[in-house]
Amino acid sequence: MEYQNILHQIQSELPYQKAIGKVASYIPELEKVPKDKFAMHLYCLKSGHYHIGSHEEKFSIQSISKVFSLSLAMSLIGDDIFKRLDVEPSGDPFNSLVQLEHEEGIPRNPFINAGALVISDILLSKLKHPKEELLAFISGISNIPTINIDNDVFESEKKHSYRNASLLNLMKSFGNIENDIEEVLDFYTYQCAIEMSCKELSSAFAIYANEGKKPTTSIALIPPSKIKRINAIMQTCGFYDEAGEFSFRVGLPGKSGVGGGIVAIHPGQYTVAVWSPPLNPKGNSELGMYALERLTTLTGLSIF
Ligand code: GLU
Repeated sequence: MEYQNILHQIQSELPYQKAIGKVASYIPELEKVPKDKFAMHLYCLKSGHYHIGSHEEKFSIQSISKVFSLSLAMSLIGDDIFKRLDVEPSGDPFNSLVQLEHEEGIPRNPFINAGALVISDILLSKLKHPKEELLAFISGISNIPTINIDNDVFESEKKHSYRNASLLNLMKSFGNIENDIEEVLDFYTYQCAIEMSCKELSSAFAIYANEGKKPTTSIALIPPSKIKRINAIMQTCGFYDEAGEFSFRVGLPGKSGVGGGIVAIHPGQYTVAVWSPPLNPKGNSELGMYALERLTTLTGLSIF
């Protein structure tokens, strides 16, 4: 079956899904997003673009941004980042403090909040204008001229960052945060407030499916050896304490965010972004997971 037909089939199945998910409310601004928004955009490296729903509508990418900041940090200091964080799945919620205490301030991986805060700290230490340079990096890998943030989401999360502030304080007490806590929190919250559409995300993630090269170009912007590692971390740690379930049901490396977005890649084949705001109890888009499970089932194209 052709991709566009498969997407239409998935869309026709959605009304029959018993959805129990809830839109994220701990960032009050995210709760205002209508529950019934849905979009899916697949970018096949060989045959181009396919989509359903509001695929050009921007939404808050939240933790999906952690893939971009990890990539930028790896391109700046390489494997040295792994002196400050690990690459093991956490099996705990994304904002959990528990393991940090036992592991002396070394986060389990770069995609839980603690790990992403360490990456923010690294970028703050290494870059002169971290906010602008992160947006320019995303723009550079995706051919999207300007990447913006949603200022209301940024301000809203900043007022409710109690857990992230605790994570930073705990890590600072172990000596794993170099900069001022307020500055790290500000930069981290800023990157989470980036807004992009499914169409834009599927383009931005093409380099992860294409050995570090933008499609139709021959120079790798990120070396394939680093792409291999980033994809491995997406596979094992991209879905909070549901990474195993996502591998089991969908079978692709990917990353989700509490804005209801999920991006997944099939190396050498395609990238796909889906958006549906209601989240399951583990914080992943409920219908997004369903749609991706159906995609890999109907195409027969998962990495397994
Ligand atoms: N900004 C969110 C937080 O720190 C990101 C969470 C997510 O998307 O997983 O809580």
